[in-house]
Amino acid sequence: MGMREFGNAIRTARIKAAISQKMLADRVGLSRESISNYERGEVQVISPALLEMFAATLGLDSRNLARIAGYLSTGDDSTTNGSGMKTALITGITGQDGSYLAEFLVAKGYKVYGMVRGQHNPKQELVQAMIPALEFVDGDLLDQSSLVAALEITQPDEVYNLGAISFVPLSWKQPVLTGEVTGLGVVRMLEAVRMTNPRTRFYQASSSEMFGKVREVPQTELTPFAPRSPYGFAKAYGHYATVNYRESYGLFACSGILFNHESPRRGLEFSTRKITNGVARIVAGKQHELVLGDLQPQRDWGYAGDYVRAMWAMLQQDDADDYVIASGATHSIEEFATRAFAAVGLDWRDYVRSDPKFFRPAEVNLLIGKAEKAKCALGWEPTVDFPNLVRMMVEADLAKEGVTAQV
Ligand code: NDP
Repeated sequence: MGMREFGNAIRTARIKAAISQKMLADRVGLSRESISNYERGEVQVISPALLEMFAATLGLDSRNLARIAGYLSTGDDSTTNGSGMKTALITGITGQDGSYLAEFLVAKGYKVYGMVRGQHNPKQELVQAMIPALEFVDGDLLDQSSLVAALEITQPDEVYNLGAISFVPLSWKQPVLTGEVTGLGVVRMLEAVRMTNPRTRFYQASSSEMFGKVREVPQTELTPFAPRSPYGFAKAYGHYATVNYRESYGLFACSGILFNHESPRRGLEFSTRKITNGVARIVAGKQHELVLGDLQPQRDWGYAGDYVRAMWAMLQQDDADDYVIASGATHSIEEFATRAFAAVGLDWRDYVRSDPKFFRPAEVNLLIGKAEKAKCALGWEPTVDFPNLVRMMVEADLAKEGVTAQV
């Protein structure tokens, strides 16, 4: 859309020239509100005289500005980059959900960028091999300017903020870092969206861990939060930031309160994958015991491939909102282990040891979500249930170990 791009161009030029909205308004003789409207792309017509003034004040060639705006052309397009193909930027691309979401969006015809941090991330090559169409852009949720740059380079229609320190036990060991990445990182990304293009749609990966010491069973969008870990309260901060940016600035910002979701791509540090990987290694004769933490906590487990569909669906609605995504069933870690071992004909009690060393300082005992709102509004339904999820993960780990068993 021409005027939206024009607003973008003004905002970017203003940031580069270090001119505030108020300074620009004073210099071109408009109110700050008018500048804000131009930047939001809410003004449909601009006079050539004003165009000249904007350009002169910002040190830009007016023909350049006009061209960017599409002001002199008749073409219109509803995508940010004007190509007709939607663009998405995913943070946390090297994580479990990032790759499933990227695959899903590429199949939908999106141009997809994954944000990667650091000098060299070996996981980048793995994701690239899985999704050849994926492109990468540098950025770190700890670094505000890198997020602005990533948005300016990629010009996304949709941003999916999946990046986080997501392993709950690590959050007790590094609570400040967790707060910085998982909590403040959300505000940094929201600010970057607001600065570069407030029309960009934004998805925040919120978590059922925000419910913590649950106030009601099952948990819905209206259940009060009672987080029990630095991860949980960092996620609650990110969640409220998302809600507040929607209400304060009118951003199309959605928060998906996702319950646990797993897959063969789950990190090996997470208990579900630790179990299925352990089962496969035991079958392969590489391991004889599996040491876990507390076996009693109950979780609402779904399949990651199902859950990324809900993320996308949230950003396709007319209005931004928050949704619980859950399977609606709960199972203990012991049940997960029982099924995983039974899948290869073994009895978990012969192999699993529970070591208090792996217990959380404060446990979340029971999570079970009610996803009725998402089912009604988004038409979302999960396709993989608990027994099939466990089987899928065991089969994948057996294949990785190059062994077979009667599954
Ligand atoms: P993962 O732990 O698999 O992935 C986390 C991602 O965050 C990695 O790509 C990691 O990249 C990235 N990351 C870490 N630190 C930074 C940083 N400073 N800047 C940018 N990126 C960073 O998580 P999942 O894929 O399982 O989950 C995706 C999101 O959904 C997370 O926010 C998680 O908290 C949330 N969530 C997950 C649930 C689940 O059951 N899976 C449930 C509810 C919410 P790198 O390779 O560089 O380390």
